[in-house]
Amino acid sequence: MGVSRRDFMKISGSTVLLGSLGINLDPAKAYAQGLRIKGAKETHTVCPYCSVGCGILVHTKDGKVINTEGDPDHPINEGTLCSKGASLYQIINNPLRLTKPKYRAPGAAEFKEVEWDWALDEISKRVKDTHVGSAALDNEECYMLQKLMRSWGLVYIEHQARI
Ligand code: SF4
Repeated sequence: MGVSRRDFMKISGSTVLLGSLGINLDPAKAYAQGLRIKGAKETHTVCPYCSVGCGILVHTKDGKVINTEGDPDHPINEGTLCSKGASLYQIINNPLRLTKPKYRAPGAAEFKEVEWDWALDEISKRVKDTHVGSAALDNEECYMLQKLMRSWGLVYIEHQARI
C-alpha cells in the first residue's frame, strides 16, 4: 500500500498528538515490529561500513533479507546505528546493486561489464602494485590478511587508525 505525502503528514500528526496526550505508543510499536519479523530467522553480524564495528541483527525469511537493525545486546552500539548502518538493508535489497564486475580501461570514459574470471585474473596480476585494506577488520581478519600479504612478499603494512 502506498502512502502519499498527505497521508504521511496525517499519520505523523496523529502520532505526535497521541504522544502529547500522554498515550504510550511503545507497546504498539513493539507489536508492529514483531509482526514484521514474525517467523523470520535472526542472524547476528557486524556492520561492514566502519571500524566502530556495531552489532547488527539480520532477519531473513524464505532466503531473503526482510529486515536489518541494531543489535540491542551488542556491547558497542547497544541497538543504535548511524545513518549508514541504518541503511544496511539497502545493500542487498537494491535493484541498482551490481552483480557483475565492471571495468574501465585506462583512458576510457565508460565502464563495461566483464566476466568474473577475467576480472579475477586482472586483480591477481595487479594486486601487488595496489593497496589492500579495510576500515572494518577484526583481529582474526587482520591476522589472516597479514599472513596473506606477507606471503606475497609485502613489507610495508600499516593501519589507518591514528588515534
Ligand atoms: S553503524 Fe555506523 S558507526 Fe556503526 S559500524 Fe556501521 S558505519 Fe560504523
